[in-house]
Amino acid sequence: MKITGLRTTPLVVPYTQTYHVTQATRTEAAVVLVEVETDEGLIGIGESIAQPNASLIVDSLQVCSDLIVGQPPFAVDALVGAVYRKLISIPAAEMDRMARLIVAGLDMALWDLAGKAAGVPVHALLGGAVHSHIQYFGFVEGESPEAMAEDARRFVEQGIEVIYLKLGRGHETDIACAAAVRSAIGDKRLRLDANEAWDVMTAIRMIKRLEKYDPEFIEQPVSSHNLDAMRQVKAAVDVPLAADQAIHSPEDVFAYCRAQAADVIVLGPHETGGYGQLRKAAAAEAAGIRVCLHGVTETGITTVANHHAALTIPNIDDGNQIMCRFLGEDIISSPDLTLKDGKLPIFDGPGFGFTLDRAAVSRAAERSF
Ligand SMILES: [Mg+2]
Repeated sequence: MKITGLRTTPLVVPYTQTYHVTQATRTEAAVVLVEVETDEGLIGIGESIAQPNASLIVDSLQVCSDLIVGQPPFAVDALVGAVYRKLISIPAAEMDRMARLIVAGLDMALWDLAGKAAGVPVHALLGGAVHSHIQYFGFVEGESPEAMAEDARRFVEQGIEVIYLKLGRGHETDIACAAAVRSAIGDKRLRLDANEAWDVMTAIRMIKRLEKYDPEFIEQPVSSHNLDAMRQVKAAVDVPLAADQAIHSPEDVFAYCRAQAADVIVLGPHETGGYGQLRKAAAAEAAGIRVCLHGVTETGITTVANHHAALTIPNIDDGNQIMCRFLGEDIISSPDLTLKDGKLPIFDGPGFGFTLDRAAVSRAAERSF
């Protein structure tokens, strides 16, 4: 079997609800659907996040398609590595993180293709499932502390154990949101994500104020570019910290573990550049540290693909990020991604085992123009 083509299609899926991060608000998932075609009719499917825009992702992947076409489907890491090296060879530009974002969808599509070609689920190719399920958190949103509390209450009623909310809306609003959500969820576990909102002094002050709401950790309180700032905050507070935007490569994980700058590492394929690198980065296990799946503006394709990888990672967290709740309509029709008590079971392939909803893909493609 040989790869005969690489098809890239920009898609836009609107959200039912805006979500707020420190730097922006998100109202849609914009992705590039990546399809790797073969001479035997099998197609591997993945997605890259369309940032800064879809054109850059499409052009970059198409420029590299000569490295993929004509190759057999099983050498996933070698093919993704070749594309990554071509992308970072641009002189005088810091392309490492961008290249990882671009190749993530190709890596996903190649794993899907390899699984389909072998007739097995991708988790079997990645070493096999070591968990019977993966647990996800309830991502609370709302335009006010009261709305967020109501949202959190719904998650608790659905049996969700871990509740997550983003801060970064202003100090007093952040405190009010944390207080409202804590009182709504009783003794359920609470996680707070500052998304780099604070400098060191503010982070220390805010985390000390937030401590009474018993967060199990605070995520990325300071700039992702400053490991020492993270370590400084960690030394000054009693609440555990998670590193998220700081982590893109296995080397980033090594640096944070060595410096004892984080208690949890948050990882996603769109940051690491696919599942080969993500699984290397999960070697934080050697430092006694869990990794937690990260979500971005993705569709159910990434949700399912992440789930396969997570099943194979011994030190995967028990409160991972899942983004389906925001999608106005998903572009896959199966498997069912409805959480049962916050969990999804093992999915059987072949490949990632999802069914693309071609009608929904057409609607999403029309929206991208
Ligand atoms: Mg985060």
